[in-house]
Amino acid sequence: MEPFDVIVSGYGPTGQAFASLLSRLGHRVCVIERWPSLYGLPRLCTIDGESARIVQAAGNVDEALRDSHQLKRTLLLNEDEQLILKMDHDRMAISGYPSHISMYQPHIEDAMDAAARQHGATIYQGWEVQSWTQDENGVTVEARQTGSIDPADTMTLQAKYLIGADGARSAVRESAGIMRDGSDFRSAWICVDAVRKRTLPKFWGLSEDMRESVIMAAPEGRAFAVIPIGDRRLRFEFYADPASTHDERMGFDAGYEVLERVHGLTRDDVEIYRSVLFPFESRLARTWQKGRVLLAGDAAHTMTPFLAQGACSGLRDAVNLSWKLDLVLRGLSDPSLLDMYFVERYPQVREVVTVSEQIGAWAMELDPVKARTRDKQLLDGAVLPPPPPAADIDDGVLFKQPNESAVGQLAPQGRVSFGGREGKFDDVFSWGFQLIVRDADVRATLSDEDRAFLEAIHCTVIGVGAMESDGVAADIDGSYAAYFDEHHIVGMIARPDFYVFGIMHELDDAAFLVGELRRQLSGSHERAVHEAAHAS
Ligand SMILES: Cc1cc2nc3c(=O)[nH]c(=O)nc-3n(C[C@H](O)[C@H](O)[C@H](O)COP(=O)(O)OP(=O)(O)OC[C@H]3O[C@@H](n4cnc5c(N)ncnc54)[C@H](O)[C@@H]3O)c2cc1C
Repeated sequence: MEPFDVIVSGYGPTGQAFASLLSRLGHRVCVIERWPSLYGLPRLCTIDGESARIVQAAGNVDEALRDSHQLKRTLLLNEDEQLILKMDHDRMAISGYPSHISMYQPHIEDAMDAAARQHGATIYQGWEVQSWTQDENGVTVEARQTGSIDPADTMTLQAKYLIGADGARSAVRESAGIMRDGSDFRSAWICVDAVRKRTLPKFWGLSEDMRESVIMAAPEGRAFAVIPIGDRRLRFEFYADPASTHDERMGFDAGYEVLERVHGLTRDDVEIYRSVLFPFESRLARTWQKGRVLLAGDAAHTMTPFLAQGACSGLRDAVNLSWKLDLVLRGLSDPSLLDMYFVERYPQVREVVTVSEQIGAWAMELDPVKARTRDKQLLDGAVLPPPPPAADIDDGVLFKQPNESAVGQLAPQGRVSFGGREGKFDDVFSWGFQLIVRDADVRATLSDEDRAFLEAIHCTVIGVGAMESDGVAADIDGSYAAYFDEHHIVGMIARPDFYVFGIMHELDDAAFLVGELRRQLSGSHERAVHEAAHAS
């Protein structure tokens, strides 16, 4: 069999995003997944706007979010049912989606899976990665049909790279001998997931449309939460000692009993479809790469779910590494570009893991005296919850000058119209590098060589202004004008993971910035640029 470009071990959200994005970029991708079908049930309930934009690149986002809504707020109650903190989420993220989206995970998985297959990815479900070896040319992977001990049920596959997206217990990570760091924090929830059968009585301060989450931060292991999963479903979470299996609390009858006792809900109100114990911990792999083998998603970092960032982090890994692998596989960049994956993503994820754990420990405080002190301080306004982590990239493929706040931050996605098409920017143009300037046709300022380079890296080059004209799209919702005003800039280059590479204070800065991008992506891309120039 002809070698693949990339083999992905594991087909959870992270593996699906890799399969879809890399095959969309034209690479030969092979997925090996232990289970014969997609998981089909939700673990995650909420994604952020940045992740929604990644899903937009990796699948049909309208299908993916067809049962979703903007989560309005999270309420924190003390054990006397008094509201001690209200966190509003009613804002749009810069990525063109709400900042907190309640959704149904299987829809997102179906959308990315469909796109991966449409782009030609080879997907083996019901197969398990058993072992792998690597040399300077590539990786050889041995896979076996799940559960079989018959040597005939094995296959050997080859690829240039192997991605371990095989979850928290990653066999790829283990066999690479990569160690993880972590803390002593342990926690667990029993999750009772149910479909709403009718409008529920107003309880715990939740509105009838249930577009908010509530956490009862009771001490001594009595904490619980109610979280929407899209429009029709709810998750009821109950703190559980992570050291026990809680057999007596599992099962649907036990689920109905606790829903009636704690929430006053009956079988007429909800239908339980799953009851499960989820233990969680924080773990960070010390490195995410060993030669041609890379780790991503929960294989690289597991975290507590208190910030709803586990799967979002895996999606960020996928979009970050996919564009780098694309350039390396096409010979446009030196393989050392892949080092930047860890340089960029590790500090981002470390902060998310740390803050998520702090919030969990803070909200799930077991000690009643400390919990009362926390509640009083919150009510007095004397203390705030740990602040959310900053999403910025501080180091990596960036052109950062002192006092340039926009660089390393997320770039906007607004609604635009151009050439008879109207919609979100990435749909009207394309997912990839984006050189966007204010109200001008920037192409005239670039040399043939610059243009050939931008074409080779599949960069959209466009102006965005009040009115559509040659080389300028109409900024329908004013997102770009607002962004340029806020940062006092006239343009920027955004990377395919939507982070800003560099900014322009004048239109004439464009050529310099393109040169800087070329220098940083460097390596053998010069060859392809010359080929592109000769071909045109
Ligand atoms: C209760 C709970 C709530 C959560 N809520 C949120 C939330 O609201 N938002 C959010 O962003 N995140 C949330 N998360 C985290 C999120 O579920 C995970 O971070 C996410 O599922 C990780 O995706 P992954 O693809 O990296 O790994 P996984 O989903 O674990 O997928 C790994 C895949 O690899 C396969 N595999 C394993 N070994 C092999 C092998 N040897 N060969 C082949 N295949 C293999 C597995 O079968 C599996 O399908 C939550 C988690 C929990 C437990």
